Amino acid sequence: MAAELLDGRSLATRIEDGLRAEVGTYATLFGRRPRLVVVLVGGMAASASYVKSKAAAATRVGIDSEVVAVPGTATTEELVALVTAIARGDHGAADGILVQLPLPLQVDKTAVLDAVPPDRDVDGFHPENAGLLSQGRPRFIPCTAAGVQRMLIDAGVETAGRRVVIVGRSDIVGRPLALLLSAKPPRAPAPVGASGCDATVTLCHSRSTDLPSLSRQADVLVAAVGRPGLITADMVRPGATVIDVGVNRVDGRLVGDVDFEPVRTIAGRITPVPGGVGPLTVAMLLANTLLAAELRSRQG
Ligand code: NAP
Repeated sequence: MAAELLDGRSLATRIEDGLRAEVGTYATLFGRRPRLVVVLVGGMAASASYVKSKAAAATRVGIDSEVVAVPGTATTEELVALVTAIARGDHGAADGILVQLPLPLQVDKTAVLDAVPPDRDVDGFHPENAGLLSQGRPRFIPCTAAGVQRMLIDAGVETAGRRVVIVGRSDIVGRPLALLLSAKPPRAPAPVGASGCDATVTLCHSRSTDLPSLSRQADVLVAAVGRPGLITADMVRPGATVIDVGVNRVDGRLVGDVDFEPVRTIAGRITPVPGGVGPLTVAMLLANTLLAAELRSRQG
């Protein structure tokens, strides 16, 4: 029997509906709307398209946004200065500041991301936010990891005591997701059937030996690699939940890291690409931007 499809688009729409109401309440209370400033460096079509969809989603829920576009020849120093100026208010109020990745090769990505003040870091990449997450008291959670967790919770996929295998250990997706899913629940004891935490997590990468034997142990298998078709049907335990984070362009078409059709016949649940994790990444960015605005308004 074919696996149940986990529809990220419809979940993202439901999240946006809730956020629109919360943003409205925020605007009534504080007399202004949350505002997101996005830095777009260079002319990569994929980055421009991601930024466009983030700005459109912000508009849908009532969050103001501005895209600051700079040429691909920008230096590290120029970008650090730009982010600092945005934080100072040179581009209007900025509750959330996001630097769209990837950055050109000549740029020191870490220096630029570290320039984003941690209380406006809606991507959750600043070391202070990574540290809070690793201590189990998250503030801004990297959006894709938060989106995957939200999808598991929404689908009722139990993670407590279950084995989660994540392939890919990046700071953006795999590592924060491993921290989230292996964390203790916010309130102990966990409710019966608790989802989204308390998992036993295996974090795999390019040096992991015998990946198929590891992935076959997974109740929940997450692929976040960037290699089309890496996860084949023989690597999946029958009935497992398979979350495909990968976004790859093959022959002009978007595909994930999972060999979708064969794996669909084995898995219990599976995310499509596109229309799976991607829309949730954007929804979580909006949620982080509202949180950033609330934190700033309460502080000041
Ligand atoms: P990344 O920084 O390049 O990390 C890739 C990870 O995969 C690394 O940990 C790497 O191992 C591991 N890896 C590479 N080849 C492998 C192999 N053959 N077997 C096992 N592990 C392997 O990528 P990323 O930024 O995390 O992104 C991963 C994918 O997710 C990309 O396709 C990206 O486009 C997509 N993505 C999607 C969304 C979304 O919203 N849907 C958001 C972010 C990213 P090493 O650490 O050993 O090098």
